[in-house]
Amino acid sequence: MRVWIIGSYGIVSTTAMVGAKNIEKGYDDFTGLVSELPHFDSGKNFTKKFEFGGHEIRMKENAYDAALEHWELNRHFDRYFLENVKEELEKIVAKPGTAINCGSGLAELGKIKTLEDEGLTLREIADRIASDMKEFADDSTVVINIASTEPIPNYSNDVHGSLDGFERAIDEDKREYISASMLYAYSALKLGLPYANFTPSAGSNIPALKELALKNRVPHAGNDGKTGETLVKTTLAPMFAYRNLKILGWMGYNILGDFDGKVLSHRDNKESKVMSKDKVLEKIVGESPYSITEIEYFPSLVDNKMAFDFIHFRGFLGTPMKFYFIWDAIDAIVASPLILDIARFLLFAKEKGEYGVVKELGFFFKSPMDTDVVNTHEQFQILVDWYNRLK
Ligand code: NAD
Repeated sequence: MRVWIIGSYGIVSTTAMVGAKNIEKGYDDFTGLVSELPHFDSGKNFTKKFEFGGHEIRMKENAYDAALEHWELNRHFDRYFLENVKEELEKIVAKPGTAINCGSGLAELGKIKTLEDEGLTLREIADRIASDMKEFADDSTVVINIASTEPIPNYSNDVHGSLDGFERAIDEDKREYISASMLYAYSALKLGLPYANFTPSAGSNIPALKELALKNRVPHAGNDGKTGETLVKTTLAPMFAYRNLKILGWMGYNILGDFDGKVLSHRDNKESKVMSKDKVLEKIVGESPYSITEIEYFPSLVDNKMAFDFIHFRGFLGTPMKFYFIWDAIDAIVASPLILDIARFLLFAKEKGEYGVVKELGFFFKSPMDTDVVNTHEQFQILVDWYNRLK
C-alpha cells in the first residue's frame, strides 16, 4: 500500500517508515502493531508492503537524513534498523507543504519552506497539494497527518459549516479561517483518498469536510493518536467507574523534549493538545472531576515523554484514597506502529465500502470523531467486532 504522510520528516513519521521498511525486508517481531494481534487474524488480511511519500516544511534531503537527525538525538532503536533500510529511505523525498495558521510554535522548527512563500493563493496551494498527492496515489493510498500540532482554528459557521462555504473561502483567499491541516484534508478527500489525523489539529474534523467525505464516499478518522498518558487514563478511569469509586480529582503533568515539545511549549499550539487530553474523563465517568492537565517542554528528555499522574478518589464510607502512576515512554516508539495500523485499517475500510467518519477506529485516538466512546476496553471491542463483521 502507499501512505502519504503530512509531516514526513518528523520523528513519528520516520520511525514508522523505518519499521515498515524493516518489516518489508522480513523483520517479523510485530510487537506494538495492533493489526497483527490474533483478534485481527494475526495480520493476514493486511499488507506488509508500504511505500511512502508526503509533504513537509523542513526541507531535509530525504527521509533517511531526517531519520538520522532524530536517531542521533534519541538513539530510540538499534542503529541496525536504520542502516538496513537506508537506501529505501533515501528515495523518500517530501514535497513542500503549507504552514498556514500553524501558530507561533513553528518558529521552533528552524528554517522552513512553504508554498505560501512562493506567493500562491489558497486555491493554488490546495491545487498544488492535490496534484502532489495525485501523482503519488494509486488505489491503495491513504493520507495521514502527523505534522506539528496547530492552534485551535478561528471557527466560522459560514466557512466551516458547509462545503460550499469552505470552497468559497478558499476561492476568496480568506486566510484567517483556513489552516494547513484543513487544506491537506480537503485535497485528500477531494481526490477520494482515505484520510486520518494523528494530531489534535482540525484536519477533516469540520462539517464542511465531513460533508465532502460523505459526498465522495471516502473514509476518514481521527483525531490525535492515543499513545501515552491518555491511553493509560482511558484504560484506568473505567476501573473507578466499574467499582463505583468516585474520582475527586485527576492531575496529569506531562514533560517532553524534541520538536513536538518545543512546538507545544507555545501557548497557542498547546491549547488544542490540552483540550484533547482533558475531555476524556467526563466521557467515562459521566461527570467532570477536578482536573489539571499540563504539558511542559523539558529539552534533555528529547523524545522520552514522561507523565506523572495523581488521582484522588473516594471509597466506601466516604474515605479518600490516592493512586499515582508514572508513564515513561519513547513517544515515537509507542506512536509509530499505530501509523501503520491506522493506514492498514483505513485501507481495509475503503476496500469494504465504508465511508464518512469511521467511528470504529476511535480506539486509536484521544478525541475520536463523532463518538463519545473513549473507554479503551469498549473501543477495542468495537474495533474487533467491526473487523469481524466486514472481513
Ligand atoms: P515532530 O516535530 O518530530 O514532527 C512533526 C513534523 O511535521 C516535523 O518534521 C515538521 O517539520 C512537520 N510539519 C510541521 N508543520 C507542518 C505542515 N504544516 N506541513 C507539513 N509538515 C509540517 O513531531 P512528532 O513527535 O513526530 O509528532 C507529530 C505529531 O503527532 C504532533 O502533532 C504530535 O502532537 C502528534 N502526536 C504524537 C504522539 C506521540 O508521539 N506519541 C501522540 C499523539 C499525537
